[in-house]
Amino acid sequence: MSARLLIKNVRPMGVAEADILIQHGRIASIAPGIAAEGVRVEEGGGRIAIPGLVEAHTHLDKSLLGMKWYRNEVGPKLLDKIENERQAKTDLGIDPALQSRRQALQSVTFGSTHIRSHVDVDTVHGLAGIEGVMHTREELADIVDIELVAFPQSGLMIREGTLDLMRQALERGVEVVGGLDPCGIDRDPKGHLDAVFDLADQYGVPVDIHLHEPAELGAFSMEMIFERTRALAMQGHVTISHAFCLGMSDDAYVGRLIDDLATLSIRIVTTGPASRPAPPVARLRAAGVVVGSGNDGIRDTWGPYGNGDMLERAMFVGLRNNFRRDDEMDIALDTVTAGGAAVMELSDYGLSEGCGGDVVLLDGETVAEAIVTHAPRALVVKRGRVVARDGRLEGVA
Ligand SMILES: [Zn+2]
Repeated sequence: MSARLLIKNVRPMGVAEADILIQHGRIASIAPGIAAEGVRVEEGGGRIAIPGLVEAHTHLDKSLLGMKWYRNEVGPKLLDKIENERQAKTDLGIDPALQSRRQALQSVTFGSTHIRSHVDVDTVHGLAGIEGVMHTREELADIVDIELVAFPQSGLMIREGTLDLMRQALERGVEVVGGLDPCGIDRDPKGHLDAVFDLADQYGVPVDIHLHEPAELGAFSMEMIFERTRALAMQGHVTISHAFCLGMSDDAYVGRLIDDLATLSIRIVTTGPASRPAPPVARLRAAGVVVGSGNDGIRDTWGPYGNGDMLERAMFVGLRNNFRRDDEMDIALDTVTAGGAAVMELSDYGLSEGCGGDVVLLDGETVAEAIVTHAPRALVVKRGRVVARDGRLEGVA
C-alpha cells in the first residue's frame, strides 16, 4: 500500500510531542516538525499515540453481535456451555462469516489492528467456522490483520474425526494449533497434548492452549505443556490462555511455574477475569514472562458481556490485578499492545521507525487516564490508512 499520511502533534505513548509520518504502510519517521508537502495530514491535537491495539484472544466465529438477544439459561459446567453452543449454532443459524465480520469491524472502531481468533473445529460443524473467518479475513485484509487458531472446542480425543479436521484446517492455512483443558474435557492429558504438539511440530506452527483447569489440576497440565515445549524446542512459540491455575494460593508452587514459563518463553494471555482466579500480571512480567490480553468470546452463548474494546480490557486487567499507580497502568496497556503482539509473534509491531503503520490516537492526559476513560478512539490508522474516526468506521463499505 502506498498511502502517505502525516499525523501531526501527537504524544507517542503519552510523552513528548512529535509528528508521525507513514509511507508505504510503514512508519517512516517520528520527529517534531516533519514537513508536510504533498502528504495527507491528520491533526493529532496533542493526543496520545499508541501502536494498534492487539486483541490476542477472541472467538470471531460465534459472537451473537447484531443478532436477536440470546436468553442465557445455560448450566454451570464448562461442558454445559460447550454442548449448548454446538446446538445453538444450528438453532440460531450463527453465520461465522457474517458474525466474524461484525465483530472484527467493531474491534477496528475500538482501535484493534490485529486479532488472534480461536475458531471452533468439531465433527458437527466441521470447518464452517474456519471458512467463515477466512472469508472475513480476506475481505478485511486492508483494515485489520486476523490470525486463526484451530480450536477443538468440543474436545479432541473424545470426538473421533476432530484430529483429522484440525489437520485439514492447518492445510488450509490456519496459523496456530489450539487446545483445551487436556484433563477437564478430554480426560486424557497425554493424548490431547501429544496430538496438539504433534500437529504443531508437523506443520511448524505455534500452539495456544485454553487452560481453565484450576489450581493443582491446571498446574499438572501446565507441567505437561512445559515437557513438550522443551522436547520439541518450541520455546517462544507456545501460549497458555487463561491459566487460572496461576491464581491459586500456593505461592511457592506458582513461583516455580512462573520460573518455568520464563525459562521456556511461554506466553500467558489473560482477560483479567472478574470471577475467577487469575494470573498475577505484574509478577509474571517481573519474572520476564510476556503477558497479552484478549476479550475472549463477546456477546455469545457463553455470556452476555463484552464489546471488543481492548482499552476497556486493559482497565479490567488493571482492576483484577489491583493496579492503581500510573506505572502499573502502563503494564495494563502493555498487555493490550506489545504483550499481545509478542503472543502473535508480530515482527514489525510498535511505534518506531520501520514498524507497521498502525497508529491509534487516544484522548487523555496520560496513559492511565486514557485507559480508565476509554473514550471513543479519535483516530485509527491501519498501514497508513484511516479506518476509523471518533469511534466510527471510515471508508469501509
Ligand atoms: Zn477463549
